[in-house]
Amino acid sequence: MKHFTFEIYNDEAFDAACNRIGLDYHGTEVLVFHLFCAGEDKERCSEILGNINHRFPESVFCGVASNAELLEGRVTNPIPVLSCMIFEKSSAELLYEPDITNNARQKAEHFADIINERDDVKAVEVLICNTGNTTLDFIIGLEKIRRDIQVFGGMPLGHDMLGDPRYMISGGEITESGVICIIYMGRDLYVNTDYTAGWKALGKEFEITDGSSCTVRGINGQPPVEIYKKYLGITDNNDFSANTSEFPLLVRKGGGEMLRHPENTNPDGSITLDGYVETGMHARISYGDPETIIEDINRRCEALYDFAPEAVLLFSCTARKIFWGPFINNELAPFEAIAPMAGFCTGGEISRDEKSGEVMWHNVTLVSTGFREGERHNKGKAPKVNVDTVSGQTSLVKRLMNLVKETTKELEMMATMDELTGLYNRREIDRIINETSDIMSEKGQPVSYLMFDIDHFKKINDTYGHDIGDLVLRGVSEQIRNCAGENGGFAGRWGGEEFFLVLPEKSSDEAYRCAEGLRRAIADGSFDPVPHVTISIGVITEEPGKGFGPDKKEMFISVDNALYEAKNSGRNRTVVADK
Ligand code: GH3
Ligand code: MG
Ligand code: MG
Repeated sequence: MKHFTFEIYNDEAFDAACNRIGLDYHGTEVLVFHLFCAGEDKERCSEILGNINHRFPESVFCGVASNAELLEGRVTNPIPVLSCMIFEKSSAELLYEPDITNNARQKAEHFADIINERDDVKAVEVLICNTGNTTLDFIIGLEKIRRDIQVFGGMPLGHDMLGDPRYMISGGEITESGVICIIYMGRDLYVNTDYTAGWKALGKEFEITDGSSCTVRGINGQPPVEIYKKYLGITDNNDFSANTSEFPLLVRKGGGEMLRHPENTNPDGSITLDGYVETGMHARISYGDPETIIEDINRRCEALYDFAPEAVLLFSCTARKIFWGPFINNELAPFEAIAPMAGFCTGGEISRDEKSGEVMWHNVTLVSTGFREGERHNKGKAPKVNVDTVSGQTSLVKRLMNLVKETTKELEMMATMDELTGLYNRREIDRIINETSDIMSEKGQPVSYLMFDIDHFKKINDTYGHDIGDLVLRGVSEQIRNCAGENGGFAGRWGGEEFFLVLPEKSSDEAYRCAEGLRRAIADGSFDPVPHVTISIGVITEEPGKGFGPDKKEMFISVDNALYEAKNSGRNRTVVADK
């Protein structure tokens, strides 16, 4: 196969392009044309595509509005770019849906049914307008496409990100709410696609408390502009989008992570992102470090080089162009060194997670797709980003990023610990109780809870002083920590001289044995100058299939009653609650 790319300045340039393609087209090959359309001149682009249809009536062709066009390892701006892939042994088919603002899911599943029926489908390119939630529905519907078929693509954007229409062209039709899918088929066709990000999460995790479609109205209950103002000093001004290109949100959904770049702020303090969000998603502010991004690009280029493609399509988020500024070509050039490339600066990228089969709507990423017909022919060495041009600014930010990362880790750890004893604090052990309970019930395993209270602790304080009291608290904590360590459990300070131990996978009998072992160890232990320290323990077990419900109220009452009974029946003993 072959891949040609052209900048269509004018009619002469178009004619020259067609003549060049004509030299390698003998009527038997399959031609796939992409016209990446700069600016808002959709009539002009539609006309160019009409002429392509006239010159090469059998070809597959489409147009897509772009923020900037990519060819020959660089950004060109703003000139329509024509890409022509010539397949000798493979075929392509275009599916078009002009409007996905209703029944998006069904429409996607209908496409998937068609795709799944075709022979030797290797990949599907998806060009899709961002209509918010219905785009997401369409993308979810595409998961019906057979798992061995790759999915990649991007979303149109105008040259003026907010002003220009985000349109696509198929046949003679222009749509601002539709989808184009190109099916690539062939026994000898190989496709390799992947996405590259490079932005890394920074600082603490937030919760999106109010978000839908592409709008976030609340992060941790606050207007999102306040979060950007507080943590980054980025205020709601004209440069908001440019300033946040270094700091997009990294949202987490299930196991997957997706970047979201804030496009603009709204009067109510909400922000509009370039991708969807949902209430309940977790988000962190992320940071784009040039060195880390370059490492990711180099890794991807190495894999793509190994694949030895004959053509490369790139879908590069416009946020990357904003981020790199004049250095954007640095990350594009190595792709051209692998194979002739073309693509555009997108308003969103599509890729498929190989493990889960999920079709992902990304932002801030670079999706790269290589095509090859037949055997691999590698020559030379994998190209790399030319780092000289960006070095200098990189080492300092990387160090600062490390500092923030490590400090955050320490602060997060501190927030879960009890200072005096080094055990988990009450809030954290409460979280652990709920989490462990859920995991164990899923696994069909029991989980036991132990509640301790030091006997006559007030007397120790009164006799030896508060400092010695603290010493005893630390000594007892040490024993509880050891017991947790030996039994795969979690120990926390519940408050004052009361403690809590969570023992996953321990039956009532096993938990009782642990409790008795611990009780004896403390009773026999030395807490100099306090001659004798004892504890009382209440034990309760959550049997699989008989959970205590989400608030665990019943468990806390029962274990507290058991502890009370241990105290009342003479202290220094273990009582198992009967449930
Ligand atoms: P019981 O056997 O019934 O549990 O008797 P107790 O004396 O242990 O129980 P009580 O609840 O009357 O007293 C607990 C004491 O623990 C009271 C409080 O001053 C002390 N205490 C709570 N937190 C700390 C602490 O951090 N350090 C020290 N030294 N004492 C503490
Ligand atoms: Mg007490
Ligand atoms: Mg006590």
